[in-house]
Amino acid sequence: MLPLPRLDGGATVCWVVAQDAPPAVRRRCPRCDCVRPFASTEKSRVNGNGRKLDVWLIYACPVCSATWSLDVHRRVSPASLGDRLVRFERNDPELAWEVARSPRLPSGAEFEPAPFTLIADPIDGARTLIVDCPWGPGPRLDRVLAQGFGVSRAQVAKAAAAGRLGVCRKQLRRPWRGEVRVEVARWDRPAC
Ligand SMILES: [Zn+2]
Repeated sequence: MLPLPRLDGGATVCWVVAQDAPPAVRRRCPRCDCVRPFASTEKSRVNGNGRKLDVWLIYACPVCSATWSLDVHRRVSPASLGDRLVRFERNDPELAWEVARSPRLPSGAEFEPAPFTLIADPIDGARTLIVDCPWGPGPRLDRVLAQGFGVSRAQVAKAAAAGRLGVCRKQLRRPWRGEVRVEVARWDRPAC
């Protein structure tokens, strides 16, 4: 974990959840006949259909390499894509990453939690912790807090239930995007 500059004279610390890879998509692989985390291949496919274009991002099963095409654009005019059209055609990895970060998933598919790195400053008597996940869908908040505090997720839940961590318990189980506030004035590391 890398240190961040202290904010607000020590009253507030900020942790940032940095994304290591875009989230995989859990869906049924027809070849393996079970649910697998399909990862983006960073390759796109562009198909012309009259004056309209379809664009897909290609994902692959990690076991059998069966591919699956995620709809990115359906029947759009080439002009509406601007310079993204050339970037899709050239398989621009930055654009593929951007699309794979928060795609609209078809029904029956869901995100596999993405690997992340936590950039965290020590709590050191701070009253408020801001956890910033600038991309989505991120990991569950309890997973991030457990990693940052060096405790288990159960210990995080217990501390929230006992009021030692000021955070909504429902919020703990959810992935989120943006900043979330956690009151840590009463936080102390559990003995067990
Ligand atoms: Zn497969």
